[in-house]
Amino acid sequence: MTEPRQVYLDNNATCRVSPAVVEAMLPFFGELYGNPSSMHSFGGRVAEHVTRAREQVAALLNASPEEIVFTSCGTESDNHAIRGTLEANPEKKHIVTTKVEHPAVLNVFRFLAKRKGYHVTELGVNKQGDLNLDELRAELTPDTALLSVMAANNETGTLFPIDEIGAIAREKGVVFHTDAVQAAGKIPLDLKKLPVDLLSISGHKLHTPKGIGALYIRKGTRISPFMIGGHQEHGRRAGTENVPYIIGFGKACEEAMNGIFEENNQVRKLRDKLESGLMSQIKHTYINGNPRWRLPNTTNIGFEFIEGEAILLHLSAAGIAASSGSACTSGSLEPSHVLMAMEVPFTYAHGSVRFSLSRYTTEEEIDYTLAAVPPIIQRLRDMSPFYDPNK
Ligand SMILES: *Cc1c(COP(=O)(O)O)cnc(C)c1O
Repeated sequence: MTEPRQVYLDNNATCRVSPAVVEAMLPFFGELYGNPSSMHSFGGRVAEHVTRAREQVAALLNASPEEIVFTSCGTESDNHAIRGTLEANPEKKHIVTTKVEHPAVLNVFRFLAKRKGYHVTELGVNKQGDLNLDELRAELTPDTALLSVMAANNETGTLFPIDEIGAIAREKGVVFHTDAVQAAGKIPLDLKKLPVDLLSISGHKLHTPKGIGALYIRKGTRISPFMIGGHQEHGRRAGTENVPYIIGFGKACEEAMNGIFEENNQVRKLRDKLESGLMSQIKHTYINGNPRWRLPNTTNIGFEFIEGEAILLHLSAAGIAASSGSACTSGSLEPSHVLMAMEVPFTYAHGSVRFSLSRYTTEEEIDYTLAAVPPIIQRLRDMSPFYDPNK
């Protein structure tokens, strides 16, 4: 019998803080306490480190440092991108997004429709979670102020072709924002090549502590500031900088950039091992999302005839942390909005579980999970009124 242990497979929710990130941050809780806006040496020294961190974040995206605005999180970056663009382009009243965005985008669009009178288009996806680009193109009109389409889906890992989508937006003269919170550090993003105007990232999905993000604003993009006050961040986001977290974010981006190929190959191998191991051992299982075109660290598996919440509870009892991906963790009878938009069949939409790995996931942990999950699924199916063991 394997020892009881903890296996963390919920890295798309948040992930372990890198020790190198903590180490980089520590001096800024100590002797490096100056305000980077101050003229004296206390400020100047800190300002140099903030400059360096901005360069590190920009390097991960192949952007210019002046195009990076530090924010408090991915949600703020998304809000700034969307609401700042609309405020700067008040004559346009139509905005376009997809049904499978993170709530940090989707709920902003829904708020704008309900409270601010915007005409909102939410593009649907097919059963694999892919968009129809002809449909997308047809929705963009001279009245469209903004198109916001995520780079990688947090629940299924499905990647959207933001290069093609951005090209369509350019052709139609529409500002293009992408929520790249899950994509950054997991797939290469080159903003010198990608036709993207605004891009959101978040530190804690990249091994920083929670509470730091950034918004990439392409030079020349019309956007209002999100916070008004001092001249920090070139007046685009006032408020004294969260220096230790900015420094940590820079370090995390540097680590992600240095490891992007090697680490992601290792993560992909473990993800594939987990996925194929579960699929081959357990009947009536399905992969949600596009199995060829997705993040290397994510698998979303539907187990037919049982409830995702029940699976998660039993996994948790076995020390395994995963997620059902649904926004509402309890009391909701609906599966996640992403799986609903994909019209995942009812019989396994409810029994879907997201496993998301990181560079800290080990082969031993995957082996442990592969041994623990099949008997859990079997026990739950034995209790399920929908399950026929003879099928
Ligand atoms: C986590 C996440 C966010 C929100 O980022 P926070 O830093 O937690 O606010 C936005 N979009 C996606 C795709 C995410 O996965």
